[in-house]
Amino acid sequence: MPIQPLQKIWMDGELVEWDDAKIHVLTHALHYGSGAFEGIRAYDTNRGPAVFRLDDHLRRLLRSAHIYLMEVPYSLQELVQATKETILVNGLEACYVRPLVYRGYREMGLNPLLAPVNVSIAVWAWGPYLGEDAVELGVRAKISSWKRIDHNMLPPAAKASGQYINSALAKVEALKAGYDEAVMLNMAGSVTDGPGENIFVVRDGVLLTPPVSDGCLDGITRDSVITIARDLGYEVREQSLARADLYTADEAFFTGTAAEVVPIREVDDRSIGSDGRGPMTKELQEAFFAATHGEADPYVGWLTFVKE
Ligand code: PMP
Repeated sequence: MPIQPLQKIWMDGELVEWDDAKIHVLTHALHYGSGAFEGIRAYDTNRGPAVFRLDDHLRRLLRSAHIYLMEVPYSLQELVQATKETILVNGLEACYVRPLVYRGYREMGLNPLLAPVNVSIAVWAWGPYLGEDAVELGVRAKISSWKRIDHNMLPPAAKASGQYINSALAKVEALKAGYDEAVMLNMAGSVTDGPGENIFVVRDGVLLTPPVSDGCLDGITRDSVITIARDLGYEVREQSLARADLYTADEAFFTGTAAEVVPIREVDDRSIGSDGRGPMTKELQEAFFAATHGEADPYVGWLTFVKE
């Protein structure tokens, strides 16, 4: 889905015109992937646009930057304010928010520490990442031949720009093979996550998801769904999953900021459960959307209201 240009993008403390939000071609991050980013969503609520778990996303951004020794020249609170301003100035009721911390223009070579640290925040309108239909009908996934980056190669805990080349290889492989999304395994063969989503399965009424130590991202939607599921009385276990655990699951779904909660109806051509959206998936999806839209009192604390 092509991005529709809006009004302004926040760059290093200033709101600049959309078309002027440019960088030099010798920007370090462009060559070496030396950046870290977040994907955040703001939802339309009856109190105006509200950003879902903004502080948690920005904390993860600062952690990603810390892992790569990037000192971010803004506090969490300043980044919260900047995000609110950027949404407001672009007049959006709901949007995707993309903060980026990156090594900028001044020095080249593999030592990133010599390059400046720049920060930008852009917003745009973005519908369901895996398609409108996927929310109900589910997606077809394929185990990738590309392994997820390992703790000893690149830290899966960081949302670093360069690391997403790994996700992109898996995504493209799945798409070219006729599937909607990839599922990645770690070097030991355990399931980690999708290229941009965490993964859950339901078996005998219990919700299972791989532990972060297996190499998945510590997803914020994952955490939200675990909280909601436990509040609904379900047992949730973080445990290693093998690919056959996906083939034999009663239900499976992806979670992610962009994807939200999306059923998986097939993995490697094996249908899952009743070949569509299972009942627990539907219940968790509805509870999640109620939370994001400010319709669930226990979770209102997850929202940052942009106009308040
Ligand atoms: N895994 C990977 C590899 C991701 O890039 C993402 C998206 N950030 C997720 C899982 C889901 O994380 P979140 O729910 O925080 O968006």
